[in-house]
Amino acid sequence: MDRVLVTGGNGLVGSQFIGEKYHKIGSKKYDLINPIASYSIIKREWDGVIHTAAKVGGVGGNMNHKGEFFYQNIMMNTNVIESCRQADVKNLVVFLSTCVFPNDVEYPLTEKKIHLGPPHFSNDAYAYAKRMADIQIRSYREQYGLNYKSVIPTNIYGINDNFDIENGHVIPSLIHKCFIARETKTPLTIWGSGKPLREFIYNKDVAKLTEWVLENYNEDEPIILSTSEEISIKDVVGMIVELMNFKGEVKWDTDKPDGQFRKPSDNSKIKNYLPDFKFTPLYDGLKETIEWFESNYENIRK
Ligand code: GDP
Repeated sequence: MDRVLVTGGNGLVGSQFIGEKYHKIGSKKYDLINPIASYSIIKREWDGVIHTAAKVGGVGGNMNHKGEFFYQNIMMNTNVIESCRQADVKNLVVFLSTCVFPNDVEYPLTEKKIHLGPPHFSNDAYAYAKRMADIQIRSYREQYGLNYKSVIPTNIYGINDNFDIENGHVIPSLIHKCFIARETKTPLTIWGSGKPLREFIYNKDVAKLTEWVLENYNEDEPIILSTSEEISIKDVVGMIVELMNFKGEVKWDTDKPDGQFRKPSDNSKIKNYLPDFKFTPLYDGLKETIEWFESNYENIRK
């Protein structure tokens, strides 16, 4: 493929597609919530489209902005997928998230379990909006025979993230909070009990796997992008504290939400396709992210 459009091109994942063939757009130039704006960019003869643009946030952002999360995500997905169909785009990858899965479900999560029950209340608005992208893709595959598909990454982190403390995801929020605590010699306060488990994936790995999906994957079901290695929030805090050389006090604020306790995923589908793929170890990815954060502090999203 020579011409690939990436929506959310300034974001955590979108920014990691590197090379001449990628044309990256951000929300300032094209408001994909508007169907006319969406079609105006997608009609320009792309070989493929990677749709990473989304209204995203961590457990705080999700709980406090459900209306925005629902409306913006459902509109963007609907417009982008329909614009691709109208413009006769042959290949499309849409980003879902492990938040789409039911709260009460037998683990591990697999691509077959998305619609088996309601999602966790903390992010249900986001989850239902994203589930509809799966339905739209399946419907378009069935009716129009299009090679459109979706990926389900677990918790993504890396350079270029949004380091907003209230609304960001756990890793960028903790890096930012640890930085402030170190610089101002105050305690570092962590939300929740530290017991929840998550699976983190480095944004560069997500971009590499998505390049493969765009070119090669052609199934009705989404494909999970995951290391399938769980780690507790407490252990993540330990790594960040060490890498940032923070010597102060760590406090746990159990009045803040824990969110879902765990959501382990089964990565056997991607592993079967790409048995030799080497995921970046969390410690190494965190080290790169923290170095980038410290050297770009003035200019980052926060
Ligand atoms: P989730 O996987 O959708 O729940 O998203 P998050 O990236 O927000 O991860 C949330 C987990 O990290 C929860 O268990 C939180 O209690 C915990 N956590 C600890 N400190 C923080 C923080 O400063 N920000 C966020 N977002 N989560 C935190």
